[in-house]
Amino acid sequence: MLWLVTLGLLTSTLASPLYSRQTSTLPAPGTRGPAPKSEWVAVYEVAKAAGRISTFAPAKLSGAGNPYYPPGVDTGENGFVTDSPSFVHAVAACFGDSDISDAPDGMYGVSFDDGPLPSSPALYQFLQKQNQTATHFFIGTNIVNNPDVFRQALASNAHIGVHTWSHPYMTTLNDTQVLGELGWTVQAIHDLSGGLIPKFWRPPYGDADNRVRAIAKEVFNLTLVGWNRDSDDWCLNESGGSSCGSYGPKSIEDLENELRSWAVGGVSPGIIGLEHELTSKSVGGFINTYAGLKQHGWDARCIPDLFDLSWYLNSPGDSQPIDSSVGIGAGLSSSPATTSSNLDAAATTPSPGTPSSVTSPVAAVESVSQTVQHLASSATPRPAFSSFSVPLAFFVAAGLLA
Ligand SMILES: [Zn+2]
Repeated sequence: MLWLVTLGLLTSTLASPLYSRQTSTLPAPGTRGPAPKSEWVAVYEVAKAAGRISTFAPAKLSGAGNPYYPPGVDTGENGFVTDSPSFVHAVAACFGDSDISDAPDGMYGVSFDDGPLPSSPALYQFLQKQNQTATHFFIGTNIVNNPDVFRQALASNAHIGVHTWSHPYMTTLNDTQVLGELGWTVQAIHDLSGGLIPKFWRPPYGDADNRVRAIAKEVFNLTLVGWNRDSDDWCLNESGGSSCGSYGPKSIEDLENELRSWAVGGVSPGIIGLEHELTSKSVGGFINTYAGLKQHGWDARCIPDLFDLSWYLNSPGDSQPIDSSVGIGAGLSSSPATTSSNLDAAATTPSPGTPSSVTSPVAAVESVSQTVQHLASSATPRPAFSSFSVPLAFFVAAGLLA
């Protein structure tokens, strides 16, 4: 409780980013489910005792590397129960009512996962030159390994969200590990940004359930952001070929054709695309098709700007004042004083409408359908985590930079 007392002593007036800087010793890069801070555990235990965090067992990983629930486990999501490894998408396909996965009509949510990486600066420079905001869901490990790229992102006015510490299937972790994956990524963003506390997160592979979702919300006040279009851009390797076998783009031309198809498609609901800053090819696909997106009239924005939300729990934006009274992992009670009142209301009331179904092949990283109803037809096994190159690629790339 000492930290609460300390927080209480802090002034609630606005402070400069430097004022609120409190750095921590971060976990080693790549640590799966790093041990959380005791204060995050304390907040979690209060929420758990109050019945606000589901008690069902974590999912298991099948031999093919896909998450599934043990027999008899009911996640409580629309009454859907999975009891077989064959339901490989049952875990990962449930963007819920409290999540954001659609943009308002005519709007295009611009977001990129898995940075910061050596391939990222070209993207940041392009976005800044276009005066285009985007949300970047960062991996804690990559932040630690690429701090200069992280700073470039911040300097370019990138909106930063959480993409976990080590990029695991979050539903397969126990509660303590979930706390560590989220908390330390929040901490890294806070420490390296001068005090910003993220408000949004995106689960790797879209893999979330009500247990994971509740821990993120109850302890870190993080809102889950999904998507309703998947580019499969991660399939393209740096040489321009595909790492995905029979699905996904085979060339940058394929990727650009896919992105152009979004731009000429329906405007209701608006689009939240899944794209990555993994390689020069995935970045290039966005850059090369951006002009067409604008020509077709899309109102492209970072995720919070779609809903007129502030960017962080304790600040409206990268260069805005920081409310030093907001603590990391302080739970839902950490009401942001400097953020507009519509922030939390909108965060719990995502865009209306039924998410679009995804028609691309399901066997792709983070390529999941949007509805439980879609699950029964989504039994095609995805490749195992280790059978495609994404996680290894970014760790290797990060290692080369260091
Ligand atoms: Zn990812």
